[in-house]
Amino acid sequence: MRPVVGGIDLGGTGSRFVMCDAGAICATQVWTTAELGAGDNIARVARIEATLRDLMPPDTVLVGIGIGATGPVDRATGVVHNPDTLPWFSEMPLAGMVEARCGVPVVIDNDAVVAAFAEYEAGAGGRSDRMLMVTLGTGIGVALLEQGRPFRGPRGAHPEGGHIPILEGAGRCYCGADGCWEQLASRQALQAMLRPHLSAEIPDAGLISEAARLAESNPAIARCFSRYGYFLGRGLSALHALYMPEVTVIGGSVAPYLPLFFDDLRDALTRAPGFAVSVDLRVASLGDTSGALGAALMAGEAAARRAPR
Ligand SMILES: [Zn+2]
Repeated sequence: MRPVVGGIDLGGTGSRFVMCDAGAICATQVWTTAELGAGDNIARVARIEATLRDLMPPDTVLVGIGIGATGPVDRATGVVHNPDTLPWFSEMPLAGMVEARCGVPVVIDNDAVVAAFAEYEAGAGGRSDRMLMVTLGTGIGVALLEQGRPFRGPRGAHPEGGHIPILEGAGRCYCGADGCWEQLASRQALQAMLRPHLSAEIPDAGLISEAARLAESNPAIARCFSRYGYFLGRGLSALHALYMPEVTVIGGSVAPYLPLFFDDLRDALTRAPGFAVSVDLRVASLGDTSGALGAALMAGEAAARRAPR
């Protein structure tokens, strides 16, 4: 019987399951999180177990499960504290219940951390000793890996790097500070900058791709991307000065548009030679599977540590 590990990425809208055999994905299933989370805690955990069992190839044995979840995750208690966007799986002993039901150890972590771990092990990070990952989505997620080990705050929390204050007078952020990085450099911020320059008929989901198409012929739109690159660089510059990463991986739905604002981003990051930090910026390469794959790889690493030598 070959050992396999399961990985689960619990998102606010969709949740992805993967089964990994020797570090590579051999099967995948995607759920709508509301359907996966229907009913009581016992029904939810039974659905998780059944999905994992369905994904196991013949002649394999499950040796571990990794879970990545959106929102604050207490790794010590295995509880997710995210009633706003993950109500079905919050405030319940999630890791403990899955462990008891499936009979194998479960590791649980924040989705930004597991996605960064996947990019480090199998994606654009290339096992760089000091890797910073910045995810540009609804907000800005930040994870730093030192030789593959995540930098953590108290109780395993990951740093909320999206809330570095970078511009006075930009308005109050929901975190309580004024002018946070994610207010100026998230996907939502870019959409808000572009919106006045595009037809009201274009939905938010298609706004950035339409703007990208027009940027070369429309100076006002090109200036939006330029300004976005500057704001992105303001926060990244602070992180670079502190962490001095070898490689910075840019993920999230804005990452593919990096060429449109790369020059302005690089200008904002450039310092005098004595203060220069690596500006090796790479676009994340694993896409939507990075969370579930990273969770599975973390579970695989934990299983290898437990295995008798
Ligand atoms: Zn904030």
